Amino acid sequence: MKSDALIIKSARQILTLRSDQKGPRTGEYMEDLGIIEDGAVAVSDGKIVAVGKTHEVLDQVKIDAKTKVIDAKDKVVLPGFVDCHTHPVFAATREAEFEMRVKGRPYQEIAAAGGGIKSSVTTLRATSKEELIQLALTRLDRMMSYGTTTIEAKSGYGLSLEDEIKMLEVIKELNRLHPIDLIPTFLGAHELPEEYKERREEYIQLIVEKMIPEVARRKLAVFCDIFCEKGVFNIEESRKILSAAKNHGLKLKLHADQLTALGGAKLAAEMGAVSADHLEFIDDEGIEMMKQAGVIGVLLPGACFGLGVTEYPPARKMIDQGLPVALATDFNPGSSFTESMPIILSMACLMMKMSPAEAVVASTINSAYAADKAEEAGSIKKGKKADLVVWNVRDYREIPYHYGVNLVDQVIKDGKVVKASFPPLGGG
Ligand SMILES: [Zn+2]
Repeated sequence: MKSDALIIKSARQILTLRSDQKGPRTGEYMEDLGIIEDGAVAVSDGKIVAVGKTHEVLDQVKIDAKTKVIDAKDKVVLPGFVDCHTHPVFAATREAEFEMRVKGRPYQEIAAAGGGIKSSVTTLRATSKEELIQLALTRLDRMMSYGTTTIEAKSGYGLSLEDEIKMLEVIKELNRLHPIDLIPTFLGAHELPEEYKERREEYIQLIVEKMIPEVARRKLAVFCDIFCEKGVFNIEESRKILSAAKNHGLKLKLHADQLTALGGAKLAAEMGAVSADHLEFIDDEGIEMMKQAGVIGVLLPGACFGLGVTEYPPARKMIDQGLPVALATDFNPGSSFTESMPIILSMACLMMKMSPAEAVVASTINSAYAADKAEEAGSIKKGKKADLVVWNVRDYREIPYHYGVNLVDQVIKDGKVVKASFPPLGGG
């Protein structure tokens, strides 16, 4: 094998996520992890070259003195998590708002008083690109230490042509500087900026006529997203913005039906969006329309937990009705301040009654589809990127079960060990 070759062998479980189902997994296929016991993965040139039982893989590939061998005895190997909904570029944290919310002030009231997204806009505009990059790099390190190897990353705290472009340039630079792969999303319609308070038509015009064409021309984003919500952008405005994005070749995502049943899920289906995200208040018709249109439901239980609300998305109903479901952190300084995908899996199981297997599928292969990266990430398959995480557990179900601690042993990104520092936790 080549000099950068690597083999992980003797893993108690390898969760390959291989399946007979093509495309995002639905229904009972969301229980299918393609587990190999006593498994091995061989890697060369950053790609997976073989996966199977340890003895089979060792028969297929030659190990020489330069091959790095990782003994995963009593450990479990998963594909790296794909966190398909994040807001990782921001200038300041918002712990004062956290305290206000804990003391009973609702999020919408804090937002109306200049907090929320607006406060992040003010601080982002005042911060240089270089500073934003440095701040975000630390966050990406933390994400990686919890087993994430690919993220979707949104703009949306700039809300001017200049500052939205600045955010997307930061994301582009982060993608170059950090091992994590970032898929950029333009979210100019995250909120109405203060200076357009009395001129919402004009802001929508700015997005449609200036921002989207510029973002598309410079290829700064793969997706266009929008906060379709009561008091933010209504259905008609959302349709207008998303149509413009589609015409410029951007793929579509929506923040939909999060705080009220506005009908964002149905709009996602109508527009042929790749995903509709949040969906706390989706109705049966919305689920059916998304299913028919092939829209993935991205669930963000961290935002429910972070806002301290009791309405979680109806994950059980969605999965039972055949809608493909993905999971993500919604990492942001307001409603969901966590870089950890494992805690999201715990919430998915405990608060939304997803099985541990469904939670794994939703945060690997299905979230890879939601991020438009399923060709190279989300499962352990010959030819895909060697984005692999070795877990310090004997059974994958321990990952959501043993919540709030980091059980990651090693992270391999593009075939290279990028994190190998956690001491073993031991049994019990
Ligand atoms: Zn979000």
